[in-house]
Amino acid sequence: MKKFEEELQKLNVDNKDAITLYREISELAMDSLRERISPPAERNAYYLSIEYLLGRSFYNNLMELGVLDSTKRILAEKGIDINVFEEIEDAALGNGGLGRLAACFLDSAAALGLPLYGYGIRYKYGLFKQKLEDGRQIELPDDWQRYGDPWSVRRENEKRVVEFADFSVTAVPYDIPVIGKRVNTLRLFQAEGSDEAKKISEWLYPPDDTEEGKLLRLRQEYFFSAAAIGELAERHAARYGKNFDAFPQHNALQLNDTHPVIAVAELIRLLTEKYGVPFKNAVNIAKASFNYTNHTVLPEALECWNESLVKKILPKIADIIERLNKIQEKELKALGCTKEEIADMAIYRNGTFAMANLAVYMSSAVNGVAALHTEILKNGLFRNAYRVFPDKFRNKTNGVTKRRWLMLCNPELADLIDKTAGKEWRDADSDYSALIGKTDGITKEFTEVKSEKKRQLFNHIAKHEGITIPNGFLVYAQVKRLHEYKRQFMTAFAIYELYVMLKNKSITNFYPSVFIFGAKSAPSYRRAKAIIKFINEIASLVNNDPEVSDKLKVVFVQNYNVSYAEKIVPGTDVSLQVSTAGLEASGTGNMKFMMNGAVTCGTMDGANVEIVEHAGRENNYIFGATVQEIEALKNGGYNPNAVLAENELHRKAVESLVDGSFSDGGTGEFKELYNSLTVGASWHKPDQYYILNDLESYVNALLAINRDYAEGKVFARKQLENVARSSYFSSDRTIKEYAQDIWHI
Ligand SMILES: *Cc1c(COP(=O)(O)O)cnc(C)c1O
Repeated sequence: MKKFEEELQKLNVDNKDAITLYREISELAMDSLRERISPPAERNAYYLSIEYLLGRSFYNNLMELGVLDSTKRILAEKGIDINVFEEIEDAALGNGGLGRLAACFLDSAAALGLPLYGYGIRYKYGLFKQKLEDGRQIELPDDWQRYGDPWSVRRENEKRVVEFADFSVTAVPYDIPVIGKRVNTLRLFQAEGSDEAKKISEWLYPPDDTEEGKLLRLRQEYFFSAAAIGELAERHAARYGKNFDAFPQHNALQLNDTHPVIAVAELIRLLTEKYGVPFKNAVNIAKASFNYTNHTVLPEALECWNESLVKKILPKIADIIERLNKIQEKELKALGCTKEEIADMAIYRNGTFAMANLAVYMSSAVNGVAALHTEILKNGLFRNAYRVFPDKFRNKTNGVTKRRWLMLCNPELADLIDKTAGKEWRDADSDYSALIGKTDGITKEFTEVKSEKKRQLFNHIAKHEGITIPNGFLVYAQVKRLHEYKRQFMTAFAIYELYVMLKNKSITNFYPSVFIFGAKSAPSYRRAKAIIKFINEIASLVNNDPEVSDKLKVVFVQNYNVSYAEKIVPGTDVSLQVSTAGLEASGTGNMKFMMNGAVTCGTMDGANVEIVEHAGRENNYIFGATVQEIEALKNGGYNPNAVLAENELHRKAVESLVDGSFSDGGTGEFKELYNSLTVGASWHKPDQYYILNDLESYVNALLAINRDYAEGKVFARKQLENVARSSYFSSDRTIKEYAQDIWHI
């Protein structure tokens, strides 16, 4: 990278704004990378994902190139603070965990030197930018390319046409380098052609509450799947001839959730129509090539496509899916499955295509994303398929890249690990388990690092939210998408109860604390938006009450995204992971926090289970109903109103929604939230996420943490034990497992 540094030395910075410099320095880095792009291997893996939540590339890429420190130094000599590039916003081509996982996986594969390539969509607008006005979410379009896009290379001569029944679209690839031991690429397709065609890559998740919206979503899924499959088939033919029986030997395709599952039918269509492969062979080739990762058991997130919709724009694909359904049905009958079992596994039913069932039948490997989640798939959602095809099922617990989520966002902690356990852990093939047994000796240094990261976080919050948090406050954080099952609502009640107890002095010696929230709600999700408003009402009550504001603060940060997470995660003491047991497939936020020395205050759900297995239950704060207990409540006629009748504090907290304590501006939203807990709605029972069932134990856990934190060293040791035991949650480990057990690369 000498050349890059020399060029950077020569760069004239006079009178250039941050955006110009960002572009010029990124281009220098891209130039120096050009000859390092690795050629494909004999066998490659491909990741098909409708989302990639990349965050900022600038700092991460310079770090991966090994020039972050020298760039900082050279720029400082020129009078420029490298932090000015923080004004360049994230590439947020994703919603949350699923898209961030895709980004972490690509990073890990490159770091390990494994040939994994990503395919996706180059949306013109990423996830909306969120502002809060009067405590409410406002959505603004995210025109992320307005600073240019120096990290992508347009490949004009590799564009291809994707056909729908009514029109065709040109898919133009843009390649983004993924830097590590290998330099792999993430290839995002941009839709070009007519106005209709261009719409396909305009928005991430266009609203699908209308027929038109649904069609657009389906077009998106087919668009990038077909572009990827067309390219892979063509490459195979060019390199190995038209013997497609060998296709699975050279290509492993990973379906990140059901959005790209249509690629399975597209491969069959292409092989049979263009390359003359008999249908049966094409089916077998597809089965041997594809693998599927399930990310959720929430029924509303399991995609089903109306047959008529698919027929309308992709008639041949609809035919193929119907044929696959018949083939599966015949096979299941021969295996002795009952009618009910066959109906449960059906790919086609009631006029719709069940994409998860298609994925399970057509994949070699099907995986869940945490041990508990995989068990739930095997015993619940896919129990019949598991009985018939047990060998397909396996677990791959998620991970996060330690490069972005430790080395980049917390260099102070990384240095402390270096000093304590040597530098080897930085290698992708290594880990920091060398810290184990040494945590006792570095609690003081760790506490200093944590204080520094909090100071940085509080400065950032003061600048962006206009709220000051006094130094030394204990930090609890709940940052993630806003959803009822993630139970930010429950945290709101818990905070309100703490407030009431501080006011009436039933708790004393409360260690001054701040609760930090960060979350975007889906634009059409009314209850989630009402919860944001409710939290902000509580925040203004608490923050403006001079009696408590030196003890308790609440901040809802605006526009939570990857870059914000990089500030919040290192500066947090307590990671709130409180989903209703059985509903959070894995979580990855929990892993980022653990890696940075936050204790988990959470339920036995998703990867929390494995976090406490590794870091010790005694070093974390587990509360609430387990999956089995939730099941029992579901079957035993759970009555949230009985809980309210018995517990005055809970009653006070819940009544605050309707007793005039807070105002929703006359919208009726708070009443609706209140009803969701106390009377239910046409589509659900009251308190379907069991908030009131777990609230008391939650408040107790928060208080126990507060007491333990005041002990100082003992708590710091708990935090450090989490760091030392977090190696398992590095996506380097996850990717090694995918490479060995599924992709065989
Ligand atoms: C990691 C991450 C997520 C996922 O968080 P969970 O707590 O696992 O839901 C979502 N959004 C952003 C910006 C992230 O960095």
